[in-house]
Amino acid sequence: MADTRMLRFVDLPRDMPEKRPPSLRRADFGEIYGEFARDKAAEQAGRCSQCGVPYCQTHCPLHNNIPDWLRLTAEGRLREAYEVAQSTNTFPEICGRICPQDRLCEGNCVIEQAGHGTVTIGSVEKYVTDMAWDEGWVAPITNGGERPESVGIIGAGPGGLAAADMLRRAGVQVTVYDRHDRAGGLMTYGIPGFKLEKDVVMKRVHQLEDGGVTFRLNCDVGTDISYHEIRAAHDAVLIATGVYTSRALQAPGVGAGGVVRALDYLTASNRKSFGDDVPAFDSGELDAAGKRVVVIGGGDTAMDCVRTAVRQGAASVTCLYRRDRANMPGSQREVANAEEEGVAFVWLSAPRGFVGDPVSGVMVSRMRLGQPDATGRQVPEIIEGADYIEDADMVVKALGFEPEDLPQLWGVEGLEVTRWGTVLADFRTHQTNLPGVYACGDIQRGASLVVWAIRDGREAAQAMLAQFAARQAIAAE
Ligand SMILES: Cc1cc2nc3c(=O)[nH]c(=O)nc-3n(C[C@H](O)[C@H](O)[C@H](O)COP(=O)(O)OP(=O)(O)OC[C@H]3O[C@@H](n4cnc5c(N)ncnc54)[C@H](O)[C@@H]3O)c2cc1C
Ligand code: SF4
Repeated sequence: MADTRMLRFVDLPRDMPEKRPPSLRRADFGEIYGEFARDKAAEQAGRCSQCGVPYCQTHCPLHNNIPDWLRLTAEGRLREAYEVAQSTNTFPEICGRICPQDRLCEGNCVIEQAGHGTVTIGSVEKYVTDMAWDEGWVAPITNGGERPESVGIIGAGPGGLAAADMLRRAGVQVTVYDRHDRAGGLMTYGIPGFKLEKDVVMKRVHQLEDGGVTFRLNCDVGTDISYHEIRAAHDAVLIATGVYTSRALQAPGVGAGGVVRALDYLTASNRKSFGDDVPAFDSGELDAAGKRVVVIGGGDTAMDCVRTAVRQGAASVTCLYRRDRANMPGSQREVANAEEEGVAFVWLSAPRGFVGDPVSGVMVSRMRLGQPDATGRQVPEIIEGADYIEDADMVVKALGFEPEDLPQLWGVEGLEVTRWGTVLADFRTHQTNLPGVYACGDIQRGASLVVWAIRDGREAAQAMLAQFAARQAIAAE
């Protein structure tokens, strides 16, 4: 069936009355992720056909044993279901909330493929792990004896924390360095609280602290401490710094007041939810309340920005994306959620410039998809003479992130990087070309997902443990 909203916003002249987005719905957002009660979990889990060809498991980056914990949940054996879920995943309740399941496990469920709607795997994973926390089944981090080796982890995001967890359980001395005042990386300051509640992340951070992981927060490596000091202090170092350079937008007027970066906007919103003093939010600069907000970009970060703006009480929220709906990088589920909340999408549109300072509008070029480029993707082309102005009091640039130039920033001679600037490391052991130096998560693979960072962190920890064991064996000979 044709998407009437899309047709309305793409095809009608911009001065028609229909151009305004539908009024924004701010009522009860709890309903979107709703309460997932015991009966519902058992019912969903019971829908798993135990098909014997678990594509769900193959397409989960952690290869979680999904059929087994679904069966245990269906049988009411929730504690055992949790034990199986946590055996392959360091943060199952987090993945259950924020994995794009439609592209991973659930998208490959054979029941979904057969047209009967997927088993809601992520919700069951979240449910059993939340229950485990409530019931006290989540065991503290302990080990069978302390080891002499120490590891320095730079970056307290999911990659760094997953490695820290595994190393501490093996008795290794672990120090995590992070420039933020709280651990969690993008789980804490990027992903909005309506998708991932902050107390869920903090519970894991406290578990690691209680398990003996040392956190050195407010510690910017390269400024407050040098990389070389960290390298000298530890037997091995894991670089898990993520990617933080916002992709630039070149257009006249881009420096105007009211044109802000996505991560600044989301971080301010997340800080407010912690109760922090955030002057740029309190002054209105990073607060969308009452404003006509335009978000530029078509990825998941853009979706988080539009949905945050709705929750802050924006007067209207419009998303500009230069390709069409079918070609946008963000999750279709997130787009559907945003549309449901009243966000207007203008597909095939790109900013040509900005009007006013502070900004009062975006000059928008209409686009069409031209010939495919070398990657096979159709290249967006400007339709000349079809420009219009989209009114805006606040514009959020959400065009994606690139890695910082770590070798230069930290003065690490010889650390090899790829042509995209990510740290070059083996994809199984995560070892870089420098002895004892490992990399994981977004800084190795480019902007990716929490679940991939967790997998990388676990693999890097395993590789380090294997190295330590080998060294010990040689020393004992
Ligand atoms: C807005 C947004 C929404 C997202 N939503 C989702 C989602 O819904 N689901 C999903 O799976 N993924 C999502 N992602 C992607 C996901 O958050 C990342 O892939 C994941 O967090 C990467 O983990 P990481 O450990 O590699 O890095 P990060 O989480 O980025 O953590 C890196 C840490 O390193 C620290 N650091 C960096 N440089 C230094 C330095 N020089 N000194 C000290 N510390 C440093 C940073 O402060 C940070 O805490 C989202 C990303 C963004 C930006
Ligand atoms: S970790 Fe993510 S992909 Fe794997 S089962 Fe859980 S929700 Fe699905």
